Amino acid sequence: MSGPVLIFGGTFDPIHVAHLVAAEEAADQLAVERVVFIPSASPPHKESREVTGSEHRCAMLEAAIETNDRFTWDACEIERGGVSYTVDTLRALASRWGLDSRELYCLVGGDSIVSFRTWREPDTILSLATLAVAGRPGFDERSIDRSLHDHVRFLETTPLAISSTEIRRRAAKGRSIRYLVTDPVWDYIERQGLYHG
Ligand code: ATP
Repeated sequence: MSGPVLIFGGTFDPIHVAHLVAAEEAADQLAVERVVFIPSASPPHKESREVTGSEHRCAMLEAAIETNDRFTWDACEIERGGVSYTVDTLRALASRWGLDSRELYCLVGGDSIVSFRTWREPDTILSLATLAVAGRPGFDERSIDRSLHDHVRFLETTPLAISSTEIRRRAAKGRSIRYLVTDPVWDYIERQGLYHG
């Protein structure tokens, strides 16, 4: 792969429009030609709840990004199985694509970066990639560990108070989730009867 790449890891259960807006705006600001979404196998911070099967999460991801030429996805975490650690993913992709830390960006939402020091091998992560942080409503840049400031690019993304948790909750109550996800994703959720309690 040539040129800088932005990777965007998440549970994507389901992928929603705030993910897509953050990725699109980040790609513009970082001048990357490729955004690679990485759906997690079993996220380290979410072991307490049952995550929807990866085949559904990947199908929704594919449906969400198919019309965007810059967007693609990679199943490396699902293929690896077990708990997905960002450090393992960055190591594998940096070596597969031959990219150094100036060419490999890792997009995270403001809520996730706050706990960055608790992630596995945080300093190795910083040596492999540049963190790109998308704001999220309620997120305050000053809440981030000062030692991270030199390794982080703070992005100006449109704050959208949308989360997968809220989407699952609404769907379970029979409320509409239309327009919180793209139409093809909405259609998939309806056809498969996902999240309906
Ligand atoms: P859940 O509600 O299940 O925790 P989520 O909506 O936070 O899910 P994830 O798949 O866990 O979605 O998120 C993947 C990445 O996207 C994380 O870095 C998260 O911070 C970021 N993200 C999620 N929602 C938003 C949003 N509304 N604005 C900016 N970033 C977001």
